[in-house]
Amino acid sequence: MGKSTDSAVELGIERAAAIIRASKGLIAFTGAGISVESGVKPFRGEGGIWEETDMGLLEIGRFNADPAASWAAIRELFYGSGPGGRRPEPNAAHRVLARWEAEGRLAYLVTQNIDGLHSAAGSRKVAEFHGSTRELVCRRCGARVPVTEEALMGGLLGSLPPRCADCGGVLKPDFVFFGEGIPSAAYEAAFSAAASADACVVVGSTGVVYPAAQVPIVAKRSGAAVIEIDPGDTEFSASITDVHIKLGASEALSRIDELLHR
Ligand SMILES: [Zn+2]
Repeated sequence: MGKSTDSAVELGIERAAAIIRASKGLIAFTGAGISVESGVKPFRGEGGIWEETDMGLLEIGRFNADPAASWAAIRELFYGSGPGGRRPEPNAAHRVLARWEAEGRLAYLVTQNIDGLHSAAGSRKVAEFHGSTRELVCRRCGARVPVTEEALMGGLLGSLPPRCADCGGVLKPDFVFFGEGIPSAAYEAAFSAAASADACVVVGSTGVVYPAAQVPIVAKRSGAAVIEIDPGDTEFSASITDVHIKLGASEALSRIDELLHR
């Protein structure tokens, strides 16, 4: 893929850079589209996880009733499935957002993604709205178990369901299952950041999953300019978007970043 030189795209990138340069409270809101280039499959849409996997396996009631069955799917989907299963790594888009935080340009980042790639890229001020795959939580005692390369090699997911070393309870991934609520700390951090934002860059979110999709809407209502980065039209495009850059996440963010550092 060569660089797009479309003039609407060019103009969008320039307007986005101007908004970001002038902003005193920029937040970012990211969805599956930012991780596609890292090889993370989206849940929805063409080629998405739900085309080939039974969504019911990620319902909390079903997990509680038969954790081994849910875990077989979870291990396959999120933790590699064996020697060939490589774990995804952050791409240029994750790295640009981490750099903007380090440079003091980005006040806060809210992600719908559970892949942990923003943290892996170095972002620290992150609300993981739907939790993440990076830790497991004991259903009985609440102990938290980090999912490291070493732990996986050591057989953490060797027999299913994995169990707590302290109490023998079933371990569940620390992401939000169907039928579970949004973690309250992430929820409050996300909406408080949105309410005080003066600009919001939305990357790769279709805007169909609630309440997450309410975050950029609250930012907009609070007076924020909304920059959207997505190759296609989304629920946000015709409603709250001020500047829509129709490119993939890495290319768009890298090109804005270039202008900011010129
Ligand atoms: Zn326990």
